[in-house]
Amino acid sequence: MATAENGLLDTFGRRAVDLRVSLTDRCNLRCTYCMPEEGLQWLGKDTLLSDEEIVRLVRIAVNDLGVREVRFTGGEPLLRPGVVGIVAACAQLTPRPELSLTTNGIGLARTAAALSEAGLDRVNVSVDTLDPETFHTLTRRNRLDDVQAGLAAADAAGLRPVKLNAVLMRGVNDHEAADLLEWSLERGYELRFIEQMPLDAQHGWDRSSMITAEEILERLSARFTLTPEPDARRGAAPAERWLVDGGPAKVGVIASVTRPFCRACDRTRLTADGQVRNCLFATGETDLRGALRGGGSDAEIAELWRKAMWGKKAGAGVDAPAGIDAPTFHQPDRPMSAIGG
Ligand code: SAM
Ligand code: SF4
Repeated sequence: MATAENGLLDTFGRRAVDLRVSLTDRCNLRCTYCMPEEGLQWLGKDTLLSDEEIVRLVRIAVNDLGVREVRFTGGEPLLRPGVVGIVAACAQLTPRPELSLTTNGIGLARTAAALSEAGLDRVNVSVDTLDPETFHTLTRRNRLDDVQAGLAAADAAGLRPVKLNAVLMRGVNDHEAADLLEWSLERGYELRFIEQMPLDAQHGWDRSSMITAEEILERLSARFTLTPEPDARRGAAPAERWLVDGGPAKVGVIASVTRPFCRACDRTRLTADGQVRNCLFATGETDLRGALRGGGSDAEIAELWRKAMWGKKAGAGVDAPAGIDAPTFHQPDRPMSAIGG
């Protein structure tokens, strides 16, 4: 059995040092690959962790469980009123974890400077298209200008390197792959494409129509010369990276479906309602909120967390490294927006 000294180990010898914390399941966009237009049930208000409860759990993860990186996500994490205070409190922990945030960028123009001052190190901003109409089709909102203003604010606030995440959808924005890369390179942003995963609330994902990493590389190669990053050790980093036109600029592809990286996974996840998930695709979770509110000690909570991670499956919630492509794969009930992407 795992012990305190061993941190968040599982039976496959993996150690989780990277904590994803969802600050809310709500969002100001409705990306088609993530949320339905309406009808999604939000988490109950009294089930949501308070800012203090989140900080306590992050402290336990850092002090007692060996977590070294904390990424805030959601839903849209910038919708959480206390986000700057949570970042500031986490930046006071010893050892100080690396702090980053994944956002759709809309709130960044207003928060980037304060977040940077509070101790945030980096941001990942999701930008799937540069065309306002396509943005509306994809997100069901007209907010591309706000996203671009947010990106500029993040850069100006020193939240660098600003990383961009893009998901390509066939017939919607897949023709924009090379444009997105050119635009990112011109601004010094680091772009990564993410294969679309079966995590949408409406269960509309279709393996046969998703844009694969191979196709993404094909589309980019029509305009750029890509060479695998020399000496790149993928390690726990999910993105495989290529030098663009000889470098130093790079582009990443996160091939979660066609080239799963579960063997090297170093993540543990905390939902906004206080559940630990040992995998994005886990079909079960461990309730830390109950322990917190029932007066559990740090040591008891840490032990629950260790047990949760010990049960992590080989790949994507199943007993097979093939992960999502395994015949036994089952899409989790919680959508990505309520897990924390
Ligand atoms: N709202 C923030 C955002 O959009 O960046 C943070 C949460 S979002 C769930 C985190 C990341 O997951 C985004 O980059 C988004 O594009 C990605 N994402 C959401 N649904 C996805 C899916 N079904 N497959 C692959 N990536 C997805
Ligand atoms: Fe919101 Fe992010 Fe999901 Fe888009 S991907 S709906 S921005 S949580």
